Parts: sequence; C-alpha cells; structure tokens
Amino acid sequence: METIDTLKIKNHKTRIFKNRDLSIELNCHGNNEYIKVSYPVKYGLFSRLETKNHIFEFNLNHELRHAKSKKKAWIHPSEWLKRTMGNDWIYYSTGGYSGVYEALGEYYLPNLMYPTNSLLGGKPFKENEIDIIVKNWHQIIAQLPDTGLPDPISRWIWAIKQQTPKGLHKKAQKLFDISGSRVTVMPPDARHVDYNIIPLNISDGCLYKCRFCKVKNKKKFSIRSNHNINNQIKHLKQLYDKDLVNFNALFLGEHDALNAPCELILDTVQHAYDAFEFQSSVMKKSFLFIFGSVDSFLNADKILFETLNRLPFQTFINIGLESYDQATLDLLGKPLTPKKVAHAFKKIQAINNTASNIEISCNFVMDETLSNAHYTALMTLVRESVNKTKPKGCIYLSPLKFGSPSRQVLYDFYKLKSLSRFPTFLYLIQRL
Ligand code: SF4
Repeated sequence: METIDTLKIKNHKTRIFKNRDLSIELNCHGNNEYIKVSYPVKYGLFSRLETKNHIFEFNLNHELRHAKSKKKAWIHPSEWLKRTMGNDWIYYSTGGYSGVYEALGEYYLPNLMYPTNSLLGGKPFKENEIDIIVKNWHQIIAQLPDTGLPDPISRWIWAIKQQTPKGLHKKAQKLFDISGSRVTVMPPDARHVDYNIIPLNISDGCLYKCRFCKVKNKKKFSIRSNHNINNQIKHLKQLYDKDLVNFNALFLGEHDALNAPCELILDTVQHAYDAFEFQSSVMKKSFLFIFGSVDSFLNADKILFETLNRLPFQTFINIGLESYDQATLDLLGKPLTPKKVAHAFKKIQAINNTASNIEISCNFVMDETLSNAHYTALMTLVRESVNKTKPKGCIYLSPLKFGSPSRQVLYDFYKLKSLSRFPTFLYLIQRL
C-alpha cells in the first residue's frame, strides 16, 4: 500500500520543458529534510523557471519564492534571494570568509532589507543585479510567451503571471490579519527550518515590557480563546493552500506563549499538527517553536515538558534571560533578579539533559557599553556551571543595537563563544 507521503509527491509529477529561450521544470523535488551544508540547497516541492539571465523558483501556489541572476555581475553564483511569506526579500550570502557558520550556526547569512541587530554582512540590496530582480521580477516574467507551448507549461506560465507583486503584498497582509499582527521577531532556533514556519497565536503580549526591547508591543499579556485559535488554523490552511505540504514547522506566538495554560498549549499543538497535516508533509520531521519568559518557564509544570517530549515534534523553547548581573538587568529594564535567572538556567539544563525531543535555548544581550560584571556573570553560567562541553541548549547572544555592525562586538562574541561550554551563536532578529 502506498503511504500518504508518496501519494502527495505523486500528485505532483515532474515535467521538464526546454526551448531556445527558457527552461522550465515543474514540481522539482528538493531536499526533504533541513540540513546544514555549505552549498545552496532547496527544500520541498517547487517549480523552476530559467531564462537567459535569471533563475526563478515558485511554490505550489505559483508564488515566487527564490530568485537569482546568472549574470557575471551577480555577487556569487551560490547566493540567492528568498521572498518570505511576509513578502520580504532576504539575500542569502556566503559571507565571504567572515565565519558565518561559527557566528550563526548556519552556512548562509541572511541579509535583511530592514534594520536589525546583525553584526555581519554588507549591503547587497544596493547591488544592481539584486535591485533588478527585487524591482522588476514580475515584468521579466510578464514578457514570457504563454501560448504555443505544451498545455501544462502554458497554464503554469499563465498562473505565475497572475501572482503579481501587488497580490503577494496583499497576501502577506492577509497572513498578518489572521492573527491580528505581524510576527516581529522569530525564535532564533527557527534557523533550523530556514524560518519556514506557520505562525499561530495562542496569546498576545508579554509579561515584562523590558525597556531595552525593540520588538515588544503595547499589548498586556492575554490568552486567545479556543474559537479564535480554531479560526486562525482554518484561515492559515486556506492561505498556505497547496503549498502547505512544504511546511513542517509551527510557531506558537506571540512573545510568551509558554505563559498560556498547559492544556491550551498541548491541545493547540495537537490540533495544528492534525489540521496542517504535518504527518504527511513532504518535509521530514515536525518542529515546534515557542518563546518563553523566566517566570512562565519557572511556573510551567513538569507535565508540560513530559507531554511535549512525547509529541511528534522536535520542540525548541527560547527563553530571554538577558543577563545574570543585577545592575545590567536594571539597566535593561528587565524585572528579574540573578537568583531567578540562575534558577531558570538550572531548570533549562535539567530539561535539556533528559528530554530528547526538547531543546531549550536562552538569550543574553551583548553591547560595548555593558559592564564587565555582565560578561563575568555570564561566564559563571555558560562556563563555570558545567564541567564539560554540552551538545545542546544553545546560548544566543543578541547585540543590543540595531543597524550598527561593530567589529568590537563581533570580536567580543567570538571570545565569549570560545569560552562557553554550550553551542553559542549570535541571535539575528528577523520578522516573518
Ligand atoms: S524581551 Fe521579551 S519580555 Fe521583554 S519586552 Fe521584549 S518580548 Fe517582552
């Protein structure tokens, strides 16, 4: 008997067409598992159009998802542009020799079009070839012939032409409207699925409203009703539509979903897994990403982690600790004490050591202006609290300033990383 998996792939038969001016491959089968390699990998099912000067890739809803130029002026042949569900362009660069993997845990550096806390990368969006694609990709496609070609190819070209920049902008807006807001920050661990997440809000706001935080909103922490969550799931299914089979990762929003009742978290996760049919995604495994605060994490019952660990998800929970030094916490306007931070750090290790399907990562801030006491205290946790190197439980160091790459902060990061006994990376703040 055939599995649902193979049937889904069979419904998307590969078809290749070539003539003098273009080459089209419908339903290419990319990698079915996220991997970390130093060459470009494309995932899931998609279709590819190659013209004399460009390569464009489209998802199963005929929406552009990747693009690159074949011209010599393109920065590097294995770099590319990605269009996100939020309709942002991201330029994936190799980062030259700047140690992208050591810094981010990934081989490619996402260059974003909006201000963020990145310490690496140049200004690729100022490059002419990139600008041409970002501004004119639809005009290039609109000039393609869609008659005189085999029927399925003509129909496909017609379909990709219908997905105009205006329409895609509207669709991104629809995505934000489903939950009522845009995801202004994705968990750092979402890098493991190249940030291809389905966002579902079970709560709004956060507990602390820290002074330093640039991604917070004004909403008081509140829980969404079951009715609201079910509605989001229904509309997300409609929005992701045929391309849903390419997804296997859920982000439970917003900034502190871990503060929601245990039952709500578990019921939602199971419901979403079934509704989004993750068991038959063309991508292997399923991933769950959640943000938590120190208080929600300390209050979370053992049963939550035990049950999450048994679910068919690889779960990543990211906790913002920020500092283990009282003066720094006060400076950041984070209403925590080092005692609470230490308590949370200890609980994080206990779960990471025992729950094979859960990884709890945590964030600390970095900045040239922070005192030595902050870094000394940080070392107490990430170096002195354990006596050997740990394979999981990432420590993310988050530069405080946006739009201000600094060699000094990057140097400090590498120094901290070399001393840390945990996998330690930079937190690059990205929106969806
Ligand atoms: S760091 Fe987290 S808890 Fe603090 S304001 Fe930002 S989102 Fe809220």
